[in-house]
Amino acid sequence: MKKDIRSLSLKEICSFFESKNYPSFRGNQVYNWLWNKSSFSFDEMTNVSLELRELLKKEFVINHIKIDNIQKSSDGTIKNAVTLFDNLYVESVLIPVKKRTTACISSQVGCSLDCEFCATSKLKRMRNLNPDEIFDQASTINRQSKLYYNRPISNIVFMGMGEPLLNYNNLIQGIEKITSKDGLGLSPKRITVSTSGISKLIIKMADDKVKFNLAVSLHSAIEKTRNKIMPFSKKFPLDELLDAIKYWFKKTGKIVTYEYIIWKGVNDDLEHINALVSYCKASPSKVNIIEYNKIENSLFISADDHIIDKYVYELEKNKIPVTIRKSRGKDIDAACGQLANNFIV
Ligand code: SAH
Repeated sequence: MKKDIRSLSLKEICSFFESKNYPSFRGNQVYNWLWNKSSFSFDEMTNVSLELRELLKKEFVINHIKIDNIQKSSDGTIKNAVTLFDNLYVESVLIPVKKRTTACISSQVGCSLDCEFCATSKLKRMRNLNPDEIFDQASTINRQSKLYYNRPISNIVFMGMGEPLLNYNNLIQGIEKITSKDGLGLSPKRITVSTSGISKLIIKMADDKVKFNLAVSLHSAIEKTRNKIMPFSKKFPLDELLDAIKYWFKKTGKIVTYEYIIWKGVNDDLEHINALVSYCKASPSKVNIIEYNKIENSLFISADDHIIDKYVYELEKNKIPVTIRKSRGKDIDAACGQLANNFIV
């Protein structure tokens, strides 16, 4: 099988040319086509001689994602069905709001976790996305954003399909490419990685001194409830998670965001509110209350508005910043937790 040229560094591409007795600056040209110009074909590389292009074609391929289906929501959200080189699918979403244009991208095909309320968890985890597939989603959405909304993306959230921290190395490499000047040059401060709470990998991220932001899908600060709605969490107890988050703050100085959905009969009582407040007070944090998006065959129902108000009141009383995130792209199943390749079934 031919190697994907995009898995090579600039240095490796230059060495390839040298090994074939060509000047190494050819490597810079090719690298520039691949990354600055997001070129998907050797034929586009017009400042490289025909002979060299043929040589490249013989040795390498450019595996790139393809957008198969674009759905546009009435609120402007755009959902892309992304086909990978091996014909698997993921989804990525462009979310334009007044002050920001956010790309929500996937990290895995399917998901190995088992959150009861999430549509993606019903899909088998097929494989990890490689760094280029992560980068391509961002660069594709960036182009889309310029095309439809006349502005580049301003933020990226890893809240699409999959658990980003279970694809750690590729995630880090993908983000490096997104933030580098060869890639999109986006500041890591504008990138948020959302995890279901894999404590040991939060510690690793802190040790690696990553510069992006951390969000943790908490949904309950009571172990019994969390274990029920996110069964995998039995392996990652709340106190261990908190220790990891404290460590993260100590090492990076960054405040974690807890994502939190409130459901009727699950976490809509005072006990859960108090548990969340004390969990939040244990290490600097803010809370993002997410509107629940109903998925098929699910018994989960959003809590009543007055319960959400009560959560907000108690958190604010305790000086914990809280925001409520309204769903976007609901009519095209593009909202959080709804990504499940519905257009291909
Ligand atoms: N695995 C990662 C990232 C993907 S999920 C994580 O769990 O954080 C992105 C966010 O969507 C998470 O906060 C998740 O809890 C939330 N989510 C999942 N299903 C949802 C649903 N049906 N409605 C609203 N949010 C949902």
